[in-house]
Amino acid sequence: TVPHRWAGVYVRRGQFLTVQNVFIFLFRCVGGNIVLLIQAFRKKFIIPEFDEFTQKIDEIYNTVQNQNDGKVADYIPQLAKFSPELWGVSLCTVDGQRHSVGDTKQPFCLQSCVKPLQYAIAIHEAGTEAVHRYVGKEPSGLKFNMLSLDDEGPHNPMVNAGAIVISSLIKVNSWSLVCFVKKMAGHEYVGFSNATFQSEKETGDRNFALGYYMKEKKCFPPGADMIDSLDFYFQLCSIEVTCRSGSIMAATLANGGICPITGERVLSAEAVRNTLSLMHSCGMYDFSGQMAFHVGLPAKSGVSGAILLVIPNVMGVMCWSPPLDRVGNSVRGIHFCQELVSLFNFHNYDNLRHFVKKQDPRRQDGGDWNNSVSNLMFAAYTGDVSALRRIAMSSMDMDLKDYDSRTALHIAAAEGHIDVVRFLTDTCKVNPFIEDRWGNLPVDDAMQFEHEEVVKVLKDYQQSCRQQKTQLTEAAHSPKLDAIDGML
Ligand code: GLU
Repeated sequence: TVPHRWAGVYVRRGQFLTVQNVFIFLFRCVGGNIVLLIQAFRKKFIIPEFDEFTQKIDEIYNTVQNQNDGKVADYIPQLAKFSPELWGVSLCTVDGQRHSVGDTKQPFCLQSCVKPLQYAIAIHEAGTEAVHRYVGKEPSGLKFNMLSLDDEGPHNPMVNAGAIVISSLIKVNSWSLVCFVKKMAGHEYVGFSNATFQSEKETGDRNFALGYYMKEKKCFPPGADMIDSLDFYFQLCSIEVTCRSGSIMAATLANGGICPITGERVLSAEAVRNTLSLMHSCGMYDFSGQMAFHVGLPAKSGVSGAILLVIPNVMGVMCWSPPLDRVGNSVRGIHFCQELVSLFNFHNYDNLRHFVKKQDPRRQDGGDWNNSVSNLMFAAYTGDVSALRRIAMSSMDMDLKDYDSRTALHIAAAEGHIDVVRFLTDTCKVNPFIEDRWGNLPVDDAMQFEHEEVVKVLKDYQQSCRQQKTQLTEAAHSPKLDAIDGML
């Protein structure tokens, strides 16, 4: 039989299209990602309109590309060699949907982006108490490689002093650690730059100074060898990823420690929560406070121009562009994070229910929606104004229709609940011109069931809506006009 090529999969003529075959076909299409396939069947992606969402990501990417400020790090040749034009963004959602734009296949070193990963691994292995016996949780307010400690030792695991001590706490060797990191990246590209490692050692006087200072202050656990720890730290900085593989690492953090591509639990929930907290408060050098304020998301940057950004329970992002600003963050990376959060309500303190100026690409739960409609209709039917007030406060659309295209106003009008009708019209400003599936307006229902007072209120309200429209038309081009237009 002659095979047909269809979406990259060969289907043989005459082969029966059983459910099992369809499943196998789809399984191959998604590259064996079982998590993705199951979610697809359930239609339960965290970002349901993924194409629409990624178009907006591309728009942000293009806007940010025009930023030409910043300087590529040049303290070692392996970093200085990168073109300032390079710019890539990859994202991976907690259910494994992925998108990449720009230079996302080129390897670069994690540098300081490895700090949250090594910290997470240390917590996963040894637990919070054992790790924080040696390292604090407080932003230092100082440069990341400052020769400075607080009373107990290094300020936090995101500055060099903290990361060097954490290196001494990790019991696995470099190879096992790379395997660990590879699991976080769903077994996609994780490499190692030996040249970077050698250069970091040669130029790392500041880190050696920090090591000796901390040795003198007894910051290392008993039995730890300071030089070995430094060596391990330099190795970790030299681990390579691409934007694509890095975004999966970030997504594993966004997904509570379970890699969204393989479904494997890589880190404990405790390790992930600790890591995200410290990334949020200390992850962006001397911009950490401003990042927490303006972007409100956990992130970690590195001198290679990488930013590992986590939107907890939604997705992980890896941005990469080598030119750095004055404090050492990627100029384009920072702009991307800011633009992302000004378009979507991803900031930790954006209100998800009442804040309508930003877009929410997340799934709205269908079950909740059905419940909300029936709660709304039931409150209108029973005349329960306080229930309706609660529903309106949850920023619910009070014009919602049931399966007969009837609104809460139709129902309240038919039942003669004058208080409900007043609340829906005076306070909620619902549309009195919606026809149900028999072509009736709420006022027709009130007339049919002879609720004279309700008829009067509704006629007055219809009249005031018409007048408002006329006034606004005269005032011309008012933004309120669209809203009223929708009503009439
Ligand atoms: N290898 C660098 C250092 O330890 C890391 C710099 C960074 O990315 O912050 O100084």
